[in-house]
Amino acid sequence: MTTSPAPRGAGRFAPSPSGDLHVGNLRTALLAWLWARSTDRRFVLRIDDLDRVRAGAEQRQLADLRTLGLEWDGDVLRQSDRLDVYRRAIKQLSDSGLTYPCFCTRREIQEAPTAPHAPPGSYPGTCRDLPETERRRRLADRPAALRLRSDVAEWSVLDERHGTVVAAVDDFVLLRNDGVPAYNLTVVVDDTAQGVDQVVRGEDLLTSAPRQAYLASLLGLAVPAYVHVPLAVNATGARLAKRDGAVTLTELTDRGIDVFRLIAESLGLSATTPFEALGEFAPERVPTEPWVFIPSASVAGDPLW
Ligand code: GLU
Repeated sequence: MTTSPAPRGAGRFAPSPSGDLHVGNLRTALLAWLWARSTDRRFVLRIDDLDRVRAGAEQRQLADLRTLGLEWDGDVLRQSDRLDVYRRAIKQLSDSGLTYPCFCTRREIQEAPTAPHAPPGSYPGTCRDLPETERRRRLADRPAALRLRSDVAEWSVLDERHGTVVAAVDDFVLLRNDGVPAYNLTVVVDDTAQGVDQVVRGEDLLTSAPRQAYLASLLGLAVPAYVHVPLAVNATGARLAKRDGAVTLTELTDRGIDVFRLIAESLGLSATTPFEALGEFAPERVPTEPWVFIPSASVAGDPLW
């Protein structure tokens, strides 16, 4: 009897095309690539383009990944092509009574009293139990967002670097009131669609993972393995941003910097290409602290910047 091999899972990188990638994003992309390839997974790309799109950014992001040698498998998935798929997932939840329309403005949410132990920013549940007549009246008035009717206060995931991570799960938004599906929904649907079973991404998303895993469980989808990696920060410890100076591949290359080496070195690797890096990559040796990147300090002796 022969058994066919299990289909290979995938790791992924999922940039938002809101601007050029900076070295911190590129470092996360390299880590996602290394984690996927070193565990015999495919590596796929997704473009999170439902929000904040800057013209030309997607093309430049893909070009930067290619320049660094981070090849991916299959077609790039674009969220803007998948609105029907997200609608179906939302309908599945609505059909099970797991959603409700919400009419609150951001301000109303900020000003509403929250439950004693609810973490700051959680939805206070204002619209959760509106009577049907009131709901209909308000729907005629202004567009509603759709929220998840969450049954839990918190959920946990297992992260390869952080262990068990427990975070609050409130009635988060699934569909924004401008009709755009929300990130926490699309990420879950898309990871499944692309066969992603390993999510390597920045630590800024660590506390979102439990919400996403909870939603996956409600949709009957598998929860991926999570690996949240440290971010790049500037001299003051704030998350690295374009305004910190020369931080993109083009800006740094123009200044004579080998960006792949810069990133590899920050990970303690001496490789000059991703494939070489695979030979020396050891997940447990990836630094646990944020990577402090000070643009002006990256070119020794150049007084101009
Ligand atoms: N597009 C998201 C971002 O750039 C990442 C989403 C994810 O990795 O789950 O922050």
